[in-house]
Amino acid sequence: MNNLLASIEQVTLMGPGPSCISDEVFKAMALPTLGHMDKDFILIMDGIKEMLQKVMATKNRLTVPVSGTGSAGMETCFVNLIEPGDAVLILKNGVFGNRMFDVASRLGAQVDAVDAKWGTPILIDSVKEQLAKKPYKIVAIVHAETSTGVLNPIREIGNLVHQNGALYLVDAVTSLGGIPVPTDEIGIDALYSGSQKCLSCPPGLSPVSFSDRAVHAITNRRKKVPNWYLDMNMIIQYWHGANRVYHHTAPINMLYGLYQSLYLILEEGLEAVYQRHMKYHTMLVSELESMGLQMLVKSGYRLPMLNAVIVPDSVNEVKIRNELRNTYHIEIGAGLGDLAGKIFRIGLMGHTAREENVIKIVSALKKLL
Ligand code: PLP
Repeated sequence: MNNLLASIEQVTLMGPGPSCISDEVFKAMALPTLGHMDKDFILIMDGIKEMLQKVMATKNRLTVPVSGTGSAGMETCFVNLIEPGDAVLILKNGVFGNRMFDVASRLGAQVDAVDAKWGTPILIDSVKEQLAKKPYKIVAIVHAETSTGVLNPIREIGNLVHQNGALYLVDAVTSLGGIPVPTDEIGIDALYSGSQKCLSCPPGLSPVSFSDRAVHAITNRRKKVPNWYLDMNMIIQYWHGANRVYHHTAPINMLYGLYQSLYLILEEGLEAVYQRHMKYHTMLVSELESMGLQMLVKSGYRLPMLNAVIVPDSVNEVKIRNELRNTYHIEIGAGLGDLAGKIFRIGLMGHTAREENVIKIVSALKKLL
């Protein structure tokens, strides 16, 4: 029988995630599997919680990785906080804001939206105007909109959300580990991320964090959380306390990978990690602009880890991506939704954000374009 795994190639992952994984993380994932209630594994769980608090800049006790990808983190935040009829406001300017709207609507919330044009940030004045109309239970926003490469102003919007009295829910799937996510300083009440972006661990885990206010809302619900697997009231009993209670079998080796990737980030130092992302983003943009290419997003609102580049009219976008993958063994991302066929998405996330990768993509694009 032919084993397909034997022919897997090394591809440089320069798309919207997953990102490149370091050998240290792969080695950690290949360590012997312990039992999910094993005393040594529980120490590793505690280490993960502690390191996540550092990377998320929070003292929130309820800071744990959810078993599942970033979308599971999104579901976890909404399903634990929303009760039918709750007023929820979603600020959306891309695919992942739309996904939040869908998730919140399925839970029976009364969902309003403030939209901004894709490729531009959420406008603070339009949020102010909407929040003046009524009180909300939750206001949600995507920090780093991966579908467009836009950085949203979460700090300024956070001030408005607090004046409204709402809980502030932030998607940090792409931002965490690439730019600062000052959870406590901004007063974020529910935060979720994903392992496969700037944390540079394979996809499969979604770190989440809840403030005391959010925990109060979760523990004082009128009805049980309608999703058994993601119910924080139960999950917390596996992740906290002297006597751990089994909930579901934790993905042990994935958690080894997350442990190691957080360890590497903290060993390098958060500031150094953020500077590295910015340095190679700046280098990439200046190289692309010198080739005559244009960025979709205006300077000042660009994400360092996700670079949206306008595809020139004369260029066949699919052909270029296929050539990059087949000839140069580089993956980049395509545009989604309204931006399909119009942009390339070049990721410089986590372990991908290195000089050799900028040189690799720029020299390949120079040959192809
Ligand atoms: N939110 C953002 C901003 C994302 O970029 C993604 C994935 O790209 C998600 C949520 C969903 O994460 P996943 O695909 O890991 O479920």
